[in-house]
Amino acid sequence: MSHRPTVSIIGGGPAGLIAADLLAGHCTVHVYERGRQVGRKFLVAGDGGLNITHSDAGERLFARYLPAERMRPYLHAFGPEALRAWLEGMGIPTFVGTSGRVFPQRGIKPYAVLAAMRERLRMKGVHVHLQHHFVGFNAHARPVLEHAGGKVVVTEGLVLFALGGASWPVTGSTGDWVAPFRSIGVQVTDLAPSNCGVEIDLPDALAVHEGKPLKNIRITCGTIAVHGEATLTRTGLEGNAIYPVISAVREALREHGQAVLEIDLKPDVTEEELQRRLSGAAWKERMAALRLDRAQVALFKAFTPMQRFVDGSTLAHDVKHLQVPVHALRPIGEAISSAGGITWDELRDDLALVKHPHLYAAGEMIDWDAPTGGFLLQGAFALGHAAAMGMLKVLGGA
Ligand SMILES: Cc1cc2nc3c(=O)[nH]c(=O)nc-3n(C[C@H](O)[C@H](O)[C@H](O)COP(=O)(O)OP(=O)(O)OC[C@H]3O[C@@H](n4cnc5c(N)ncnc54)[C@H](O)[C@@H]3O)c2cc1C
Repeated sequence: MSHRPTVSIIGGGPAGLIAADLLAGHCTVHVYERGRQVGRKFLVAGDGGLNITHSDAGERLFARYLPAERMRPYLHAFGPEALRAWLEGMGIPTFVGTSGRVFPQRGIKPYAVLAAMRERLRMKGVHVHLQHHFVGFNAHARPVLEHAGGKVVVTEGLVLFALGGASWPVTGSTGDWVAPFRSIGVQVTDLAPSNCGVEIDLPDALAVHEGKPLKNIRITCGTIAVHGEATLTRTGLEGNAIYPVISAVREALREHGQAVLEIDLKPDVTEEELQRRLSGAAWKERMAALRLDRAQVALFKAFTPMQRFVDGSTLAHDVKHLQVPVHALRPIGEAISSAGGITWDELRDDLALVKHPHLYAAGEMIDWDAPTGGFLLQGAFALGHAAAMGMLKVLGGA
């Protein structure tokens, strides 16, 4: 007769899957997932290249996360190097690409990475229960799941929840766990879009530029400034220069009902140099003298008061300080990730719930945030690792 403890993991995304792998040698592990397969958001994340982590280390890495001080110990214990080694151990070598982003070796598709994880769990004897939907808790704070054949109540052992946030709900992560958690007294900050586009009242004249990139710009909101590229959309702007400022935009929207992006259309050129280029240029030649492309000119005209534009004496300054008002974030369903989640005060350091220590949480369910660039998956894997280590300690296996 086996004396191995039983652990249940609810949610088969990156956080749940790594925890299952780490626990499997020590416990009988059950993974419950509502979808027909595990890791659907992981596969979506891999569309266009699976940016699985980032080569940043130490303080540089921690600073990418909000709140950095809470995420620090988990990233310290299981950072990018450890994640890469874990993947390598499953036959998935990785490489550092442009801007320090880490990807699976060329030719290895996201599906193959997921298949390697699934095979590893199969070999370790993890029991995966698909199409099992967590719907709430019973009176003893034990999870209740529904499936085609009926109901399961997880009455035994420690339980790890790794149900993700609420972006891209088609992948199974809908945030429908929030109400049940609140019902057992766990504080959850409302899930909000992160790494998403911003909504801007764009004049019709910009419609022809929809889909065009604004390359090599610098965007500032609050204390956050980002150099990169943004794309003009039907409703505003999105892209890698927008995502890192979303937390500041969200804060400003919450406090003032409006946020302002300051856009530097010529971050590599000083105002003095722009002034020099403008001097002597005829009125009609000014935009050409500034060397802005057509989409940049359209945006610049849209958000520069006509009087200043005609006057021209402040153009060099205005090109570097374009003020673009944002009235909303794009909906959470379109976002790459969500902010909000279980508040840190509800969690012990080992990620058990303070009020219900037989329940643990990991991944995007917890209230942290990070920009794209591999930091989201890194955060989810690091928290899954931490929860597994915490459970093992309680079970006497670590
Ligand atoms: C379009 C897109 C692109 C992305 N690109 C990147 C990228 O390049 N790099 C990066 O680092 N990150 C990227 N991400 C983010 C990354 O995929 C997530 O941060 C990560 O998957 C979170 O992992 P998780 O395990 O916490 O949750 P999830 O991956 O969301 O997994 C949660 C699992 O729980 C299951 N579940 C949810 N509710 C229930 C329920 N009630 N009952 C049973 N099961 C349930 C879901 O079906 C899901 O399988 C991207 C995300 C999107 C949407």
